[in-house]
Amino acid sequence: MIWKIKERQKKWLEGETGTVVKNWGGKVSIALAFPNRYAVGMSNLGFQHVYYALNRYETVVCERVFYPEPEELELIRQSPGHLLSVESQRPLLDFDLVAFSVPFENDYTNLIEMLLLARIPPRAKDRAEVRPLVAAGGVALFLNPEPLADYLDFLFAGEAEPLVPEFLDFLHRLGHGSASRCEILEEMAKSIQGIYVPSLYEPVFREDGTLDTLTPLVPGIPERITVRRADLLTSEPCRTTVFTANTEFSNVMLLEIGRGCGHGCRFCGAGFVYRPVRYHGAEKLLETAAPDCGTNRIGLVSAAVSDHPEIVDLCSSLLDRGGSLSFSSLRADSLDSQLLSALESSEHHAVAIAPEAGSERLRRVINKNLSEDQIYRAAEMLAQRGILNIKLYFMIGLPTETKEDLEAIVTLAKGIHHHVVSGSRGKKRLATVTLSVNSFVPKPFTPFQWTAFAGTVELREKAKWLQKALARVPNIRLHFDLPKWAYVQALLARGDRRVSFFIDKVARGDSNWKQAMRSSPLNPDFWVMRERERDEKFPWEVLDHGVDRNYLWQEYERALEARQSPECRPGKNCKRCGVCGP
Ligand code: SF4
Repeated sequence: MIWKIKERQKKWLEGETGTVVKNWGGKVSIALAFPNRYAVGMSNLGFQHVYYALNRYETVVCERVFYPEPEELELIRQSPGHLLSVESQRPLLDFDLVAFSVPFENDYTNLIEMLLLARIPPRAKDRAEVRPLVAAGGVALFLNPEPLADYLDFLFAGEAEPLVPEFLDFLHRLGHGSASRCEILEEMAKSIQGIYVPSLYEPVFREDGTLDTLTPLVPGIPERITVRRADLLTSEPCRTTVFTANTEFSNVMLLEIGRGCGHGCRFCGAGFVYRPVRYHGAEKLLETAAPDCGTNRIGLVSAAVSDHPEIVDLCSSLLDRGGSLSFSSLRADSLDSQLLSALESSEHHAVAIAPEAGSERLRRVINKNLSEDQIYRAAEMLAQRGILNIKLYFMIGLPTETKEDLEAIVTLAKGIHHHVVSGSRGKKRLATVTLSVNSFVPKPFTPFQWTAFAGTVELREKAKWLQKALARVPNIRLHFDLPKWAYVQALLARGDRRVSFFIDKVARGDSNWKQAMRSSPLNPDFWVMRERERDEKFPWEVLDHGVDRNYLWQEYERALEARQSPECRPGKNCKRCGVCGP
């Protein structure tokens, strides 16, 4: 029956352009693994970029591996060892390195299950053979690698651009010598800045369950791992290089125009660990999106696309070539007539705005500095250009949230709908406002790393209340996430090595999350529902992003007082968070 899996993979290959298929002779072989299905992985720009970056080296063969499709999962479970790479359909055990790209915490169990399906012992201490080494990178792990510490031989702590060449250089120097797995890892930890080898650090916990120390076990390795950042001025922009119809962005070239975000929203992990905000120059971006790049549909990607200093010129140059543009995110306060013209000429009928909170007070708490007027104005401007489907992102369970803040979501949604309708006079299509309401999950390295998760009961009640309050309003739709999954995410986001107890049980199919939590001697509420003390040592602080802890605490205090903070402005002699110097 394994032929069915091979057939599926062959079909994927036939439907792709830009795939790299290499001869293996004498090369370092890397299985680049994504712990979710093909369609999800192929929509991920970070995954695509690493595939491209590794395969540019003649001495490397890099092939992709995905979590099995639902109909094939049982087949591979019955026949472990048959988790195969897409390109040459080889088992993972044939590779020198299995490197996972992990953007989301809730995929951790898939990662462990993939190792089991590949017949690779999931815990690092049980792997005796030198090959394959098992590593990972990705934003979820830059925020906190500790829940997966027992499974990984090493972590790429930082961005691929500076790390990949140094890592490959190390592997080539190593050659096919006789060094043991432990010797290789130790040498890697000593010689490459940004490589974290968890087995070389020992955590000690206090009686109250909090972390006491996380100590290096061998001399010559750093106490904290300095996370590596790319210089975007000298590096090539990330872009889609493998096109397939089987993704969310079928036939769209995603193009990263900048990294990080200067707005300092206090809930957003990426806004702190990708500091300072950096941009690629328009000239280089235009070269990357040259007419021969494979498509004329370009999706501009960054935390806030409209913040790019040359965005108007970039959009008009791309549109002058024909084709269309889409944007990963737009801020309501930076929409202007030129950006709207770009949206209009690309025939967008739907745009997302993220107020995140209903009231201006709560938006000050999270430092999302958008006024009600700016949001209404944006909705009206979009409607005037014929964009009548507005998606609004909100969070519930934010620190200090009250009933009035929930009522403000209802008022804002109705107000936006009203402005869209009045801005669309004379247009024939129906105006629709869709609210996507997600549970707030506190993330490491943000000012809210000290705060507690709201809890599933409270979140369900709030969602129910919102549903009722908006039930009779025509043309307003509501989507909610499931608080039980937000609870799991909260556990994995701020957990330490002990949460591997839950990950293991779920990944091995011994129990579902609820059963695993019930059977545990450890109460998961300890990691999820607990407000932390100011001086508590956090497991994720084994990584050093350069963001000063005191700055984060001050931002937390300002949040509780609903005080806004200014934007991050690199190059203006700012030293506020510590990333641009002490
Ligand atoms: S030091 Fe200032 S400019 Fe630099 S990342 Fe921090 S807030 Fe931004």
